Amino acid sequence: MAERVDTVLRAMTNDGAFRVIVVESTQTVRGANECQRAQGAETTVFGDLLTGTVLFRETMSPQLRVQGIAKPENGQGQLVADSHPSGDVRGLIQRRTGQPQVEIGCGSTLCMLRSLQNGSINQGIVGLGEKATISEGLMIYMQQSEQIVTMIAVGGVLGADGKISRAGGYLIQLLPGVPRGPLMVMTERLQDYQNIEPLLHRDDFSPRWLLSELLFKMDYTELQQSEIRFNCWCDELRVVASLATLPRSDLEELLAANEPLEIECDYCHKEYHIAPSQLRGLLDPN
Ligand SMILES: [Zn+2]
Repeated sequence: MAERVDTVLRAMTNDGAFRVIVVESTQTVRGANECQRAQGAETTVFGDLLTGTVLFRETMSPQLRVQGIAKPENGQGQLVADSHPSGDVRGLIQRRTGQPQVEIGCGSTLCMLRSLQNGSINQGIVGLGEKATISEGLMIYMQQSEQIVTMIAVGGVLGADGKISRAGGYLIQLLPGVPRGPLMVMTERLQDYQNIEPLLHRDDFSPRWLLSELLFKMDYTELQQSEIRFNCWCDELRVVASLATLPRSDLEELLAANEPLEIECDYCHKEYHIAPSQLRGLLDPN
């Protein structure tokens, strides 16, 4: 069977009460997990962070790049999810030396970073809450930093090979002035859907199916569908530009060696060979 493309689907109920975004992120999460060699519990937590960051970008700032960063309480390493407006998604697992994996749990924090149009960065940090899940952390974040009541569930299920066999999630936003009736119906329904894993396990799972379950017996309109994929947007220019932040003495030292500099992208492991002539350009801005 051909692997299907990961999609994001948006909808709104016709009474204007709820905005819903659903996503399937199976291939995206698998790609990032494989590239970053996720191990053990990292496999699902990293996946949840990637899926959650996509949902967050889609709802808060579809035109901007968003990063989600989860850090353990002890500060040992971090997980980074990076979601680009083009639909490209990449991630980073930064383990401290000697630590087999990054452990996200009680006391961990979630930081959401948005790169704004003017180049500045909007950032907020929350604790992950009692359940210590990415879903709960995102809900706390939306409530505290954005003052928007939002229900979010992200998850992934593992196949027999220990890899993600399906990943996805949903986000439901209450729009201002939701009537009491629909609110009660939705609140009760979401008790059943808080844990998304059983839904992901189903053979007939798809974003459209999930949407129809969440909005069962409600009139709604599908607004937009887009694709996401695991893909890094690094390029040589960015790599050279990142070197510009090095102290001048370091650059001079690299130049003195007069050998191509080998740099690997942490997100996708692509290797770049930067010629000394390119470094020279950094020393002489003209
Ligand atoms: Zn890259």
